[in-house]
Amino acid sequence: MTVRDLTILGCSSQQPTRKRNHGAYLVRWNEKGFLFDPGEGTQRQFIFANVAPTCVTHIFVSHFHGDHCLGLGSMLMRLNLDKVTHPIHCYYPASGQVYFERLRHGTIYHQTIQIIEHPIKNEGIVEDNDLFRIEARFLEHGVENIGWRITEKDVRKFDREKLDIAGVKGPNVRILEEKGEIVIDGKKIRLEDVSHMKQGDTLAVVIDTLPCDPIVDLARGAKLFLCESTYLEAHRDLAEKHHHMTAKQAAEIAKKAGAERLILTHFSARYQDSEDFAKEAKLIFPNTQAAEDLRIFSF
Ligand SMILES: [Zn+2]
Ligand SMILES: [Zn+2]
Repeated sequence: MTVRDLTILGCSSQQPTRKRNHGAYLVRWNEKGFLFDPGEGTQRQFIFANVAPTCVTHIFVSHFHGDHCLGLGSMLMRLNLDKVTHPIHCYYPASGQVYFERLRHGTIYHQTIQIIEHPIKNEGIVEDNDLFRIEARFLEHGVENIGWRITEKDVRKFDREKLDIAGVKGPNVRILEEKGEIVIDGKKIRLEDVSHMKQGDTLAVVIDTLPCDPIVDLARGAKLFLCESTYLEAHRDLAEKHHHMTAKQAAEIAKKAGAERLILTHFSARYQDSEDFAKEAKLIFPNTQAAEDLRIFSF
């Protein structure tokens, strides 16, 4: 079975603490490795997480505040050092191209890896392939900032028992899938008799924003919704002032969007215990958990 999980490589906001590294989130899904917002120290956090950085295939930078991108250069150099042979796709706001280039070429190195830049000018679907559809929406953070919705393609699932009963096996399964029907021992078997389509799951990642309507669209029906909650409701004034959200606001959005599960992150250094965020959110959206460095959430 393939790995399918979210690893929290860091969950601090602007200022890291003894317990929380600058943010960075790795999602391993259908043989891909999606790395979101690599902050400072991301490369070393991979070692603590026991994950090889070479699994990374896509890097997403929501915006170019330092806590979301200062690890980008070192991650690219690390992938270069590891001589990965697959291309690395990088998605980021087009308005931050100058920062992307500075980070990418910040030091001396001989580039051998293939980096494919995807500067995003317009929101909407930015990638649509055999495995995933990736959608980007601009959020409200005072600077251009992007939230992401990744949906896997619907896949056909065969029912082993029904296949056995119908006597379809080996290469005949592929023929049935291609042609839609097959005749076995004089009996016609239709594809829909022995299989069904499984709707692809959705992951939403929203970090650094005020509450706004695009978040609801991104998180609609999401199996996993990773969302910032820099503050608790007691400091809502600070959240508004700095263009962030509280745990309660994130929970309200998760509920409105009909998400299945909410993971909170990007905690201000003023708070010691991240469980306080989960407690606040659970009053509105029970299926909430708080991120902690190196915690893994399977989905
Ligand atoms: Zn931030
Ligand atoms: Zn920010």
